[in-house]
Amino acid sequence: MFADEYHLCADLDRTLLPNGLAKESPEARRLFSVIARQPNVSLTYLTGRDVHRALRAIDQYDLPLPDFLITDVGSSLYDCRLTDEPILVDEWSERLRQDWRGENSDSLMQKLAGVPGLAPQCGLPRTELKLSFNVEINEMDRALSALRVRLMELGIQASVISSTEEVLGVGMIDVLPPSANKKLALDWLVQHVKWHRSRVFFAGDSGNDIDVLLSPYPAVLVANAEQHLKDRLMEAARVRVCADNLYVASGQLPAELPSMNGNYAAGVVEGFLHFFPENLNWFRARDSLSVAS
Ligand SMILES: [Mg+2]
Repeated sequence: MFADEYHLCADLDRTLLPNGLAKESPEARRLFSVIARQPNVSLTYLTGRDVHRALRAIDQYDLPLPDFLITDVGSSLYDCRLTDEPILVDEWSERLRQDWRGENSDSLMQKLAGVPGLAPQCGLPRTELKLSFNVEINEMDRALSALRVRLMELGIQASVISSTEEVLGVGMIDVLPPSANKKLALDWLVQHVKWHRSRVFFAGDSGNDIDVLLSPYPAVLVANAEQHLKDRLMEAARVRVCADNLYVASGQLPAELPSMNGNYAAGVVEGFLHFFPENLNWFRARDSLSVAS
């Protein structure tokens, strides 16, 4: 058993899921699963995916099932401890509903119908507190301005998140209640399940992970993150005097562990052992990691 209680929290795409261009170390996900399955370790995934796509990825990449699942960039929180079906935690949804004072994605979608350049994303299950649009990349700036003006006219406070898939040549815009983000959803969860904050550990790689990576929680940025983001976050952490809480994985693992490159799950394991080195004794007690499962 590990030395203490730990709460392992991680992004999925390109943090635990090796679905970027960087190479994954062969042992990485197995070792992550070994840690996540210890009896005094809880597991939470935080993702921009909806619950169905998150579960599909967990299954496809053979990741352990979580205790909690924070989906849709923080706008939904599920308790997965009791049954095979994740249970939506309505108290968190209710907190977000207060931001939108009775509006939901259906009613807002109607009110935003005339905004030029926005095409509602089709084929995705409807999420009560998140609207998703496709936008032509060269129309992105104009669509964002028009959307913000319309939201202001409606008196709706919202967080508007834009992203682009350069390879596919499409832009995307999500509209969420202002409190719907990974950091606030995790803060709410930590408070409600009464976890000790210093035992919460987060791993991420980009964009919507930044607020958590720069929070007081011990956190790792995996090695496959873009270099400009590593530089930017380390500088921001230094300015905020929280540099001790942010670790950038680079493939530096103690000799007890298989050699790994710090990408994806390897970076999560490296970061976990950086902040909680007391657990190296657990690995030292074994002749080889082949029996540590
Ligand atoms: Mg990611």
